[in-house]
Amino acid sequence: MAYDSENIFAKILRGEIPCNKVYEDEFVLAFHDINPLAPIHILVIPKGEYVSMADFTTKASAPQIAGLFRAVGQIAQDQGLDQSGYRILANSGSDSRQEVPHLHIHIFGGKRLGPMLT
Ligand code: AMP
Repeated sequence: MAYDSENIFAKILRGEIPCNKVYEDEFVLAFHDINPLAPIHILVIPKGEYVSMADFTTKASAPQIAGLFRAVGQIAQDQGLDQSGYRILANSGSDSRQEVPHLHIHIFGGKRLGPMLT
């Protein structure tokens, strides 16, 4: 699937649409989900143009891949979730019901979460 540079996260990365920013570094931007499904629901997105996890792990450099996962761990820690626990999730493709075609990792926490798949 080709990258659609008009997707909403591309617009957020370009600063055309605002977001409630949590964290940013050279590799990623993280912001609160607009429709939170848990008390803490953060999205972490790589800064490059990657549709899915397969696209990212095929095309991104090792530092970019490490940067994304390091940021996820750091953000969870910064949010105080390490003790209480949290869940990460990345939908990829239609069976997963991925809505936004720019790779994003959800971080859910702040309450005892439901079953793994709902
Ligand atoms: P997914 O179904 O994994 O593609 O998740 C897309 C997520 O993006 C959903 O949880 C939406 O609530 C969230 N979302 C959509 N538009 C925005 C936006 N402008 N700012 C923050 N989160 C958004």
